[in-house]
Amino acid sequence: MLRTKEQYHEDLFKMKTNVFIGGERVGRDDHRLRPGINVLDVTFDLARESKWKGLITATSSITGEEINRWSHLPQNPYDLLQKQKMIRCVARRVGGCIQRCMGHDAISALAICTKEIDEAKGTDYHKRFMTYLRDYQMKDGDGCCAQTDSKGDRTKRPSEQPNPDAYVHVVEERKEGIVVSGVKMSITQVAYADEIFVLPTRALMEDDRDFAVAFALPADWDGIKLITRPVWLREKDDPGAAPFYKYGVSDSVVVFDNVFVPKERVFMCREWEFGRRLALLFADSHRHSYSGCKPGMSDVLCGAAMLAAEANNIQKISHIREKLSSYAGAAELAYAAGVASAVYGEKTSSGVFFPNKIYANVGRRLTGELIYHEYNLLTEIAGGIAVTLPFEEDFHAESTKKYLDKFIVRNPKLSPEISLKIWKFVENVGASPMSSWYEIAGVHGGGSPIMETIALNLDYDFDEKKRLGRYLSGIDETFDDTKALGLEPTFGTSLASDDRQELKK
Ligand SMILES: Cc1cc2nc3c(=O)[nH]c(=O)nc-3n(C[C@H](O)[C@H](O)[C@H](O)COP(=O)(O)OP(=O)(O)OC[C@H]3O[C@@H](n4cnc5c(N)ncnc54)[C@H](O)[C@@H]3O)c2cc1C
Repeated sequence: MLRTKEQYHEDLFKMKTNVFIGGERVGRDDHRLRPGINVLDVTFDLARESKWKGLITATSSITGEEINRWSHLPQNPYDLLQKQKMIRCVARRVGGCIQRCMGHDAISALAICTKEIDEAKGTDYHKRFMTYLRDYQMKDGDGCCAQTDSKGDRTKRPSEQPNPDAYVHVVEERKEGIVVSGVKMSITQVAYADEIFVLPTRALMEDDRDFAVAFALPADWDGIKLITRPVWLREKDDPGAAPFYKYGVSDSVVVFDNVFVPKERVFMCREWEFGRRLALLFADSHRHSYSGCKPGMSDVLCGAAMLAAEANNIQKISHIREKLSSYAGAAELAYAAGVASAVYGEKTSSGVFFPNKIYANVGRRLTGELIYHEYNLLTEIAGGIAVTLPFEEDFHAESTKKYLDKFIVRNPKLSPEISLKIWKFVENVGASPMSSWYEIAGVHGGGSPIMETIALNLDYDFDEKKRLGRYLSGIDETFDDTKALGLEPTFGTSLASDDRQELKK
């Protein structure tokens, strides 16, 4: 089934009121949540449009039916390429974060890790998860991922924290399920999601076994509170507004206060040895998703910078062309890293196809390093008007309009109306609450920069480079490079023939 956005709203507005904003308990129809809901609406709308079939939709590996790609488990490199392309396409339409990739990355991580836990421990998590996922796909569910724990003192492991609720943990095991408590933070989209996927956030030691827990629950389940911070560009939802102003986002602190999780929704319980594996499966898949959304974000910034250059009538000046080329470099190198990550990915024992970790991490690291630079380029090209522009009402008020109409025109080929539209857009892309959100998400989303360094130090074959040095400098006579990164692409081997044909087109 592919839900319509109206069906999504109907399901959402029926949910219990466990969302809190600014000290008030609010319904999910609160106007401050609407800009985020508008983003999700696009993902439901596009899945039903025939021209997006096969990109926004996929064939379920469980039922063989057409489903929304956000709930699909990637089966081959083509699926990963399609996911990446879908994220970039939709991010461009909403002018930024598409918010659904976390849920997609969580289901991939859970499908893979539950299988591996079962193989090592003889448990039956995988079957349980796949049964859950079948229903989720059939209902066209939307899930967010709650991985980041509030973490308390950063230097202490979960079991060493004075406040045990700093990390979500198992309080009690019963025959029919488990009881969990703790606090997750910075959880995007949860205030308008159907489901929450909860995963551990870090590697765990044996003492931390209570903190090794993964499960899924409806976002309004008893005992869950969502303390939510919406970010949006306009006080009122205005359907007539230009596209960029319709969209926004919300992040929440998610409180689990002695919450009962039925057994059929528990996918890890105290298998502490798999804490790191599950955390990294999510993080690496999410870093691959960034190779879709960050290029989309660079496209938005590049578009704003080009309009600012035109409005300033400096679009042909050489230093502007040089600055604009930086956006091309940022967007397409990140995108290329995602393509390489898909092509050199691996088939896991669960059947899920997983992106290559090295390419996913170098791509994500590049975008994190460049994010402030990209905003800086826009600032340099636009000048100071992004933060000093009078309010829009002044451009329409009788007493000020005649001055401001002349003031706003810098390029004589542009009318006052178009010039104002450009500068409002530049202001909102470059100097609004959403800009700050994107800058900080660009650095920390998917894990702080140090996490990419750690991932690369774990997986990158540095010794192989040293052996190369020894060979080239004459210390060693031979050099075995048969296992060097990239010599064995999975592309040709694991791609289904139909998909290969599709890819050739
Ligand atoms: C806009 C936005 C949206 C997000 N959405 C989601 C979401 O949907 N779901 C989700 O699960 N998470 C989400 N996150 C959370 C994101 O994954 C975290 O911000 C990220 O993992 C960093 O964690 P933190 O914010 O707690 O920072 P911290 O971990 O506190 O990091 C701050 C600094 O402390 C350092 N540090 C931390 N611990 C140690 C240590 N032990 N030793 C040495 N140095 C240390 C870090 O390297 C970093 O420099 C989101 C974040 C943002 C900004």
